Amino acid sequence: MGEVNLEHVSKRYDDVTAVDDMNLEIEDGEFVTLVGPSGCGKSTTLETIAGLTMPTEGKISIADREVTNLPPKDRGIAMVFQNIALFPHMDVYDNISFGLRLRNYEKEEVDRRVEDAAEIVQLEGMLDRMPDEMSGGQRQRVAIARAIVREPEVFLMDEPLANLDAKLRVHMRTELQRLHKELDATIIYVTHDQAEAMTMSDRVAVINKGELQQFAPPLECYNEPKNLFVAGFMGSPSMNFVEGVVDSNGLETPDYHVEFDTGQLNGISVDDRLTMGVRPEDVYLVDDADNVANPTHRINARTDVLEPMGDEIFVYILTGEGSAAGMDAEADDSHQLLMSVNPDKDIDIDQDVEVVLDRERIHLFDTETGDAIAHGLEFASVETGPTGTEAEGDD
Ligand code: ADP
Repeated sequence: MGEVNLEHVSKRYDDVTAVDDMNLEIEDGEFVTLVGPSGCGKSTTLETIAGLTMPTEGKISIADREVTNLPPKDRGIAMVFQNIALFPHMDVYDNISFGLRLRNYEKEEVDRRVEDAAEIVQLEGMLDRMPDEMSGGQRQRVAIARAIVREPEVFLMDEPLANLDAKLRVHMRTELQRLHKELDATIIYVTHDQAEAMTMSDRVAVINKGELQQFAPPLECYNEPKNLFVAGFMGSPSMNFVEGVVDSNGLETPDYHVEFDTGQLNGISVDDRLTMGVRPEDVYLVDDADNVANPTHRINARTDVLEPMGDEIFVYILTGEGSAAGMDAEADDSHQLLMSVNPDKDIDIDQDVEVVLDRERIHLFDTETGDAIAHGLEFASVETGPTGTEAEGDD
């Protein structure tokens, strides 16, 4: 049915490589999101699947059939774009059915498909409305219905929610998930918004500079990012990154030492430069760390900026020299940590605090290549740990 395969697909424009050796195996019925920063090649990848752009190299198949050189209309796909191009002088029925009527479908068949599609996107009763009598969200639903009536095996969507306001975008996310369940079709969805990718997809293809970085379920990208790029891109606010140097029992960063059992990590040795990554929700005030099974040693810091969000407070803290009174936020990234704190916490700016990191949620990356080395660290000789065993053979 709706499997989509990209094998070594590249697209070059003169000196720009928009898509670089992309390999994707998308299963029938999957909701896959192509996500990455602006200009990373998401749209170009989608356009090669649609047949709107010919790849410079590589092979594309849809439903077990090679389509690399087929025109869009013969690929069994339907597209929904960011800019909803409805015909302003046609009502909703005519807009939805335009393509079918062009192909001379029987009237009853057109009616049936339009009614089914209108029901799926909840536009029943609005078929005689004109586009200028509808909201942005309703117009986007007309565009989606127009794709549905073609009964494609694969839906290709390029930032279809980008022009909607924030609230409607969140609402349409749930609608799209419902739609996916109802249609049981393959959906390939392009967005630069990692929150959209996290919430809707079965799998996320994270792309940077034309290259696929990781293709995995959203939580896997979040919890086990393959490299620094994925770690920094997935999750908002972003993961903290602090550079350091490996020593015999952990990582020495400019301001503090993070102990862990270095012997258990393959391929690292003393003096290697690593980047530690830790998410804001995994940094704790000492008083709040009771449930953290394996906390690091205490880190002295000073609060710098507070961002109260209502359900949590984002607190920027400065460590080391940066924590000394009088020093302001000129500190580089290695002296700063962003943490998420419970909103009922009495916390102020310029306040001395002690924090710990949840060691089991610390990530390590090779600073030079960016490749992940570990997700979650162990430290056998934690005094407060439940097992309480001594570290064996620490050299
Ligand atoms: P995204 O969708 O991730 O924002 P695009 O796929 O649109 O990125 O573009 C990827 C890169 O290819 C960008 O550097 C863009 O400028 C370039 N590009 C896209 N289309 C063309 C084109 N028709 N001619 C030249 N360069 C292009």
